[in-house]
Parts: sequence; structure tokens; C-alpha cells
Amino acid sequence: MMGLGIALILCALGVLLIAIILRQRSGLPWARVVSTDVGETRTLTRPLFSARLGLTGKPDYILQQGDYLIPVEVKPHRRAPQPYPSDLMQLAAYLVLLEETTGVAPPYGLLRYAEETFSLRYTPAVRAEVLATLTEMRDLLSAVDVARNHDDAARCRGCGFRSQCEDALV
Ligand code: SF4
Repeated sequence: MMGLGIALILCALGVLLIAIILRQRSGLPWARVVSTDVGETRTLTRPLFSARLGLTGKPDYILQQGDYLIPVEVKPHRRAPQPYPSDLMQLAAYLVLLEETTGVAPPYGLLRYAEETFSLRYTPAVRAEVLATLTEMRDLLSAVDVARNHDDAARCRGCGFRSQCEDALV
């Protein structure tokens, strides 16, 4: 009986050790995962949504650290020494969304690449950049005449607006 108890304790310690190693390898902090939009254990069924800003999105994970929720975006196949600006903007949008939907501004968000984890501090400048980008996108959507901003024929070939577009390359 005593032997079985010791075996169970050793087994539990082994599972804990594996969990610690996996979390360390992930580059993410040791924090409770309150929601995930990844894999079988998906719990974030509905996206975060701000009607006021016309903004919606789902971070891959949301961690709870003390009183704060931390959004995490994972790009498992991306390898780069610096984060892509578009990935940072996506993460920044999640920071704004969490602030809008919970009333508490997260201190930072995390962007995980294959080998690196980058942290983006949530500052007034980051929030202002997201809001400015949203305004720019709204202006572009309502604009009647928008010039083509690329020379990529393949992009036009796969574009759903090609039949109506006067700027199409193919
Ligand atoms: S077809 Fe027109 S809208 Fe579509 S990618 Fe090409 S230029 Fe842009």
C-alpha cells in the first residue's frame, strides 16, 4: 500500500516536471490560461468585440496574471529576430479589445514565434496607433477610388474584386 502511494507521488511529480519543462520551452510566463482559441481545448468560442470601436478579434490565449489578462498571439512557424509590424499591430488590437471589454488595461501582450517570445508594452502610444489604424481603414473602405499599392500579378489573380477592378494587373 505504501509502495503504491510513493509510486503515485512520483508519477504526479513527473507530470509536474514535464509541465514545467513544456511551459519553459514555450517561452510563456507561468500563469493560468483563462481561455484558448487553439486546438482541442478551445474555450474562447466568441471573439472579443467592441461595438464602440468596430473592432473584433480572438487572441490564441489569454493568461491571467494577478488582476490582469494578458493576450498571447502564437505564430508557431515564424522565425525572425524581430517581430513583424503587422503581428505587433494584431497583438496591439487584442490589448485594446481586452481593455474595452473588461475595463482593465493589460500591462503588456506576448507574441510567440517558433523560437522567440516578444513582449509588447501597452502604452498610450500603442493604443493611439491602433485607433489611428482603424480610422485609416475606415476611410479606405469608404473611399470611392483607391489606387493599387502593389505590382503583384499573382495577388490580383486570386483577388475576389478582380472583375470589377480597373487597376487589376491580370
Ligand atoms: S484586382 Fe484590384 S483590388 Fe484586387 S489585388 Fe489587384 S489591384 Fe487590388
